Amino acid sequence: MSADIELVDEPNGLIARRVVVGALETNCWILFSPNSKKAIVIDPGDEPGRIVDACSDLEPAVLLLTHQHWDHVLGVPEVVDAFGLEVQAHPADAPIWPNELDHLAEHGHFDAGTATSELLGCGCHIGAPADSLLWDGKTTPLLSGASVVVGNLELKVLHTPGHTPGGLSFTTRGHVFTGDTLFPGGPGLTGWPFSDFQTIISSIRSQLFSLPGTDQVHPGHGESTKIAAGQEELEAWIARGW
Ligand SMILES: [Zn+2]
Ligand SMILES: [Zn+2]
Repeated sequence: MSADIELVDEPNGLIARRVVVGALETNCWILFSPNSKKAIVIDPGDEPGRIVDACSDLEPAVLLLTHQHWDHVLGVPEVVDAFGLEVQAHPADAPIWPNELDHLAEHGHFDAGTATSELLGCGCHIGAPADSLLWDGKTTPLLSGASVVVGNLELKVLHTPGHTPGGLSFTTRGHVFTGDTLFPGGPGLTGWPFSDFQTIISSIRSQLFSLPGTDQVHPGHGESTKIAAGQEELEAWIARGW
């Protein structure tokens, strides 16, 4: 088992494994309930071998994408092949992966938002993995309000655009998986093509900050936080503009 962290929330019947993958240390989440092996994989961003390994005692049944930036999808083909999964994502993100591939073809690396030059400068590899397949971009549409039911686990789908047009968050039993929409200390980057600051603020306010303040927020990179921590800071984020 090569998960970096396993959160066990027994009262709520949720186990969440976090595998931190790739150049941008993306959180790939594997969710299941204690009495079922059926699992949900969210954002296999790179290092698919480690993700497959972290699922070795489970039966992954579905693959969900919070959004389609390269650092959240590079491991998709191998994880899909290993478990025969369908990739579910919001259709409004359809332009994102083709845009990433265009950027790769034109510049020889993916666009990492505002940190691209720093990452390249420090020698981080933000190109396509040499030895693995590139994702074909095929998804099954997943819309706001849908439920994803796997074993005893039910995730509710929230459309949280702004970082990308088809950004999704997934909520279940006191936890919300926010991708690059909400982090401790602020919203995700909106300097990318297809991003918009007002839209991400509106998503956070209406979709995420209507959840209980005690809900744990698990973002696409870095550590978890609580809804209440962000609620206190929202006005400051709006005032600073990022
Ligand atoms: Zn992103
Ligand atoms: Zn990301």
